[in-house]
Amino acid sequence: MNPHLTASDTPQQDAAVRVYRAKAPLRDALAPVRRAGGTIGLVPTMGYLHEGHLSLLRAARAECDVVVMSLFVNPTQFGPGEDLERYPRDEERDLRLAAEAGTDLVFAPSVAEMYPEGFASRVEVGGNLTAVLDGDSARRGPEHFRGVTTVVAKLFNVVGPDIAYFGQKDAQQAAVLIRMVRDLDFPLRIEVLPTVREPDGLAMSSRNAYLEPGDRERAVAISRALAAVEREARAGSLRAGIEAGRRELSAAGIEPEYLEARDAASLEPAAELNGSPVLVAVAARVGGARLIDNVLITP
Ligand code: AMP
Repeated sequence: MNPHLTASDTPQQDAAVRVYRAKAPLRDALAPVRRAGGTIGLVPTMGYLHEGHLSLLRAARAECDVVVMSLFVNPTQFGPGEDLERYPRDEERDLRLAAEAGTDLVFAPSVAEMYPEGFASRVEVGGNLTAVLDGDSARRGPEHFRGVTTVVAKLFNVVGPDIAYFGQKDAQQAAVLIRMVRDLDFPLRIEVLPTVREPDGLAMSSRNAYLEPGDRERAVAISRALAAVEREARAGSLRAGIEAGRRELSAAGIEPEYLEARDAASLEPAAELNGSPVLVAVAARVGGARLIDNVLITP
């Protein structure tokens, strides 16, 4: 038992992790931690945990007194025709893995708990950040990010973390959330941690579960393409790098939704490396999965 938490308010107990389905008891459990000056770390997830999620939980464990993981497949960030219904779920396994990674509390609300009858508010980061790459209306669109910022703002208000942890895997999401925290003065710090990959380079993702064996093999071309972009860019031409990346994808029969180089902070297009960090981001459908990945090229 974490010494920062009291034994009361235990709706469900799973070895070392306590599961909360409702906001109020979670708040009650965290209030004394905050009063005693303890630091709270939050790792928001949609579950079906893999090493990427676990790396965030371990970082939170190392830095915070109390670690909270949220487990919520947020319907408002899925568009019509996206994979909300078939999104992979395994709560029992998630709770076990979360406990092993040192999580103290899991907040796993129902959709009705997060969006009760009459829910009508949205949190939206405007401008370029949510309009390009995945935010382009030909792709997931700005509504996707509005769903993300609304649910994450709610999680921040319910949990009140000192530090919230996100993965570089979802680089645009991280950039949008950093802007939201800055613009709306959320009193917390966001930490963005490196993408965790399979041994062959494929970025870990809950959606990798959709890949049939042949597609799983082809999917490695995505990280290979990003490596090619970085190699050529560092050798002198980002433009040539993007071309090399396209060739890697094409050789695997993958037609990307986008493969673009952008300024890592503003997400404005980047033609060449010019001294500031460049994000090269890719999205592609491989078999039944829409996969995203990126590389951050720092000078
Ligand atoms: P998700 O459950 O996919 O919404 O992801 C929850 C958090 O884990 C987000 O902050 C993601 O960016 C992060 N994440 C997902 N995949 C990875 C990965 N391969 N490496 C590091 N972080 C990841």
